[in-house]
Amino acid sequence: MLNKKSIEDIDVKGKRVLVRCDFNVPLDDQLNITDETRIDGALPTIKYLMENGAKVILCSHMGKPKGEPKPELSLAPVAKALSKKLGKDVIFAADNNVVGENAKKAVAEMKESDVVLLENTRYRAEETKNIPEFSQELASLADVFVNDAFGTAHRAHCSNVGVTDYIKTAVCGYLIQKEIEFLGNAVNNPVRPLVAVLGGSKVSSKISVINNLLEKVDTLIIGGGMAYTFMKALGREVGDSLLETDYISYAKEMMEKAEKKGVKLLIPVDTVVAKEFKNDAESKVVKGNIEEGWMGLDIGPETIKLFCDALKDAKTVVWNGPMGVFEMPNFAKGTNAIAKALADLDATTIIGGGDSVAAVNQAGLGDKMSHISTGGGASLEFLEGKDLPGIVALNDK
Ligand code: ADP
Ligand code: MG
Repeated sequence: MLNKKSIEDIDVKGKRVLVRCDFNVPLDDQLNITDETRIDGALPTIKYLMENGAKVILCSHMGKPKGEPKPELSLAPVAKALSKKLGKDVIFAADNNVVGENAKKAVAEMKESDVVLLENTRYRAEETKNIPEFSQELASLADVFVNDAFGTAHRAHCSNVGVTDYIKTAVCGYLIQKEIEFLGNAVNNPVRPLVAVLGGSKVSSKISVINNLLEKVDTLIIGGGMAYTFMKALGREVGDSLLETDYISYAKEMMEKAEKKGVKLLIPVDTVVAKEFKNDAESKVVKGNIEEGWMGLDIGPETIKLFCDALKDAKTVVWNGPMGVFEMPNFAKGTNAIAKALADLDATTIIGGGDSVAAVNQAGLGDKMSHISTGGGASLEFLEGKDLPGIVALNDK
């Protein structure tokens, strides 16, 4: 899955190139874009194509219009923002059926280095069902396909998978190339020791990740809400903490697997517990058992030390899931300490998962990490060892 052609491996001059971007940006009531990170992320690929004389046709989804035109989810504001950033008018093809008269006319009139943006691909009901009709329409506009939307790579839709049935040359853009390089190498060809840090709320949502990573890592660190199910499996009381009773036996199984594989598996030795799920709730640090009436909301100071020590010699670290309820400042210490430890390491550090990325950015340490994944769900499936259809569909090297 990792040996995929990129835009640099093909000739794009004079070609009509359809690029699937991730322009799923947040808008306010006035339809102003409130965070342009995703647009900025798409620029390197777009600029490369413009500089190399391609006719650049961009497409993306935004939000969930559920298969019909919704003016508040139009990509028109993205066309405006792009025009400013590229210093060139981006033609917006305002077709409610995405590939309509406006798009066809705009594409027919394109010259080299021109840029056209199509309307929200999810205005079409076929998009998320990967129905050939819409894939074919999209394909009819272009000679070459580029996928640069990692956030949807774990889904097989018309605009990232179906379209490759009709356009033979299909390659990745810079964003996806970087994701494949970092996530792929970390999981399949890491510089060791490889340490994975897993947290977040639930064991159940990350079962396959734990299982797959135990095949790969030297050390697995488990914190966050999922840790209590592991503690319970070790016979410790967890009070009112998050506990998934159905997964206690699974946690046991994973600890046995770790032992068999010679993987060091670390779980918290102390916990910051609180009376209520509130930032200013009464709180204290406890070791061992957690009493009834108290819930664990963060890892304790000894655990921070234990985890940071285990990270010290790491050469590759993959982190998915916060160590505590980092949204509340009083319970963000564990998460912030791990973020700081990673930032200070001389290692490849990779952050995946929407909330983990938010936590690292909240700590102001985003630019200290080697790679921050642009797709929460997609990076999770990657860590589960699954093939992502949006990447599988691209041409091999
Ligand atoms: P990611 O998006 O990085 O994959 P998750 O979505 O799995 O992470 O989990 C993030 C959520 O887990 C956060 O909202 C955080 O508050 C919550 N969480 C972490 N530790 C605990 C805990 N001890 N109790 C309850 N929730 C927790
Ligand atoms: Mg999340």
